[in-house]
Amino acid sequence: MRVAVTGGGGFLGSHLCAALLRRGDSVVCLDNFSTGDPENIAHLLSDPCFEFQHADVSEAVEVAGRVDAVAHLASPASPPDYLRRPLETLAVGSRGTENALRLALRHDARFILASTSEVYGDPLVHPQEEAYWGNVNSIGPRSVYDEAKRYAEAVSAAYRRTHHLDVGIARIFNTYGPRMRPHDGRVVSSFITQALTGEPLTIYGDGKQTRSFCFVDDLIRGLLALLDSCAMGPFNLGNPVEHTVSELAEIVLAMTGSTSEVKYLPLPVDDPTRRRPVITRAREVLGWEPEIDITEGLRRTVAYFRARPERLAASAAA
Ligand code: NAD
Ligand code: UDP
Repeated sequence: MRVAVTGGGGFLGSHLCAALLRRGDSVVCLDNFSTGDPENIAHLLSDPCFEFQHADVSEAVEVAGRVDAVAHLASPASPPDYLRRPLETLAVGSRGTENALRLALRHDARFILASTSEVYGDPLVHPQEEAYWGNVNSIGPRSVYDEAKRYAEAVSAAYRRTHHLDVGIARIFNTYGPRMRPHDGRVVSSFITQALTGEPLTIYGDGKQTRSFCFVDDLIRGLLALLDSCAMGPFNLGNPVEHTVSELAEIVLAMTGSTSEVKYLPLPVDDPTRRRPVITRAREVLGWEPEIDITEGLRRTVAYFRARPERLAASAAA
């Protein structure tokens, strides 16, 4: 297959590009590096099956030659990233998704959307299955991301109904692993960076809010299974083991042997109180489930961060 990956220079996108190449597919990676990093794909540039195009997919998505599948991952994903770029986030979720859908339509290609557990907002139903419609504040600060993704799902579903485009939707829950930016502001990268540099771990609110953390390799297997199927979903892709933010802080401190203290800061507006996926649909239809537990996943992520002390310092200074 020749797969166009939007956002391929980001955390998840670069892992997806590498996984596709490993199994023998060709990849056209499109990115504007607004939140990505050229270093994420530097090791892929010498592969003759890998092409990179610098592109803002909110403007246009053009790919010369055949395209068999489009994986649309372009979008800021970390809350500080999308809160800093509200209009760009809305644009890439709406116009960017439409441009990516049109690319797939022109080529009669499979299209998969990287949607998010944020479509459930601050959920009133727990755990979350795909049939739950969510609880999103449509005018709050996080809405630029949540509503953009809800629109992206809506327009993708409409392309399936109207044009019979082969669309699949993944609702991705909190995913972590190597190649996260040390200072992207997400909780896993923040806690590891803080623990390794001796800074206090910043817990927002009382730390009792929960998330379910999925290791990146597991998530990428799920995206490939979705890409290879002709199912629409939506599919929750995430690890169903739930932790409080305080528990995560304790695990990171124990694993790194850090003497960092813990500092409590205000909870961001509309921060969801709990989050855990029901993954029955992905298990049954895609034959997918996570395999890597949080201890092993964090061990690999800490090892990645430890091996790059200059990035921890360099980003902190930036
Ligand atoms: P990331 O910020 O590392 O990657 C996003 C990539 O998209 C970056 O390389 C960025 O430069 C690129 N991009 C953004 N706007 C663009 C535009 N207009 N044109 C071209 N490229 C653009 O984030 P990530 O964690 O890798 O997330 C990838 C996708 O997965 C996103 O769509 C995100 O919403 C979704 N997702 C991620 C998670 C997670 O936990 N990592 C959870 C839910 C959903
Ligand atoms: N969080 C925290 N300290 C940080 C960063 C995040 O306590 O330094 C909290 C945040 O308020 C949220 C949870 O950790 O409750 C997950 O945050 P993240 O930004 O990683 O993901 P999302 O909010 O998008 O699920």
